[in-house]
Amino acid sequence: MKAAPADQKRLLDLAEIDSVIDRLAHRRRTLPELAEIDELAARVAKLATQVIAAETEASDLAREQAKAEGDVDSVRTRAERDQKRLDSGQVSSPKDLASLQSEIASLHRRQSDLEEVVLEIMERREAADAQVTKLAAERDELAGSRAAAEDRRDAAFAEIDKERAEAQERRAAVVGGVPGDLLSLYEKLREQFGVAAAMLQGGRCLGCRTSLSIADLNRIKAAAHDEVVRCEECRRILVRTPESGL
Ligand SMILES: [Zn+2]
Repeated sequence: MKAAPADQKRLLDLAEIDSVIDRLAHRRRTLPELAEIDELAARVAKLATQVIAAETEASDLAREQAKAEGDVDSVRTRAERDQKRLDSGQVSSPKDLASLQSEIASLHRRQSDLEEVVLEIMERREAADAQVTKLAAERDELAGSRAAAEDRRDAAFAEIDKERAEAQERRAAVVGGVPGDLLSLYEKLREQFGVAAAMLQGGRCLGCRTSLSIADLNRIKAAAHDEVVRCEECRRILVRTPESGL
C-alpha cells in the first residue's frame, strides 16, 4: 500500500487519540464506584428482606398480643359475672356457693396466667419492633451511601464522556485528512490489535517494543517513502520519522 509520509504520520496522531479514547473507556468500565454500588445494592436488598421478615414477626406478635388480651378480657368478664352472682345473694345453697367461689378463684388464677402471657408477648413484640427500627435505619443508611456513590459515578461518567467527546472531535479532524484505503487498514488493525500504528524509533517498533533485525531495517530503509511498511513482529503499521534510526 502507498500513502504519502505526511498521511502516514497522521496515523500516529490518530493512534494517540485512540489510546486516549481506550483509556477513557477503560476508566468508565472500571470505575471503583461501580463495584461499590453493586456491593451496596446487594446489602440494601438483603437488609430489605430482613426488614420484611422482622416486620412480619412484629405484626404476628401484635396479633398474638391482641388475641391474648381478648382471652384475659373474657376470663375477667366471666369472673366479674360470677362475682356479681355471688354478691347478689341469689345463690343460697352452700354447695353452689362453694362451687361458685371455687370457679371465681380458678378464673382469677387463669386471668393471672394469661396476663403473664400478654406481658411475655409484649416483651417479644417490643424487641421485634426495635429490630425493625434498627434494620430499617441500617437499610436507609446504606441506601443513602448507595445514592451518594451513584452521584459520584454519574459525575465521573459526565467528566469521562466530556473528555471522550473532545477526543472524538479531534479524531474526526485527523481522520478527515487520512486517505480512505489507509484509514481502512488502520481501522482493521485497530480492531485486531487495539493499537494499529506505531512509530519506528531508534530501530524499535513502539507498538510491540521489539528491536527490528538489521535485515528488516535494511528492507525498510530501501522501501520508498510512500510505501506503508508493517512491523514483522506485530503486523502494525510502522511509521517512519526522523527518529527512526534508519
Ligand atoms: Zn511491532
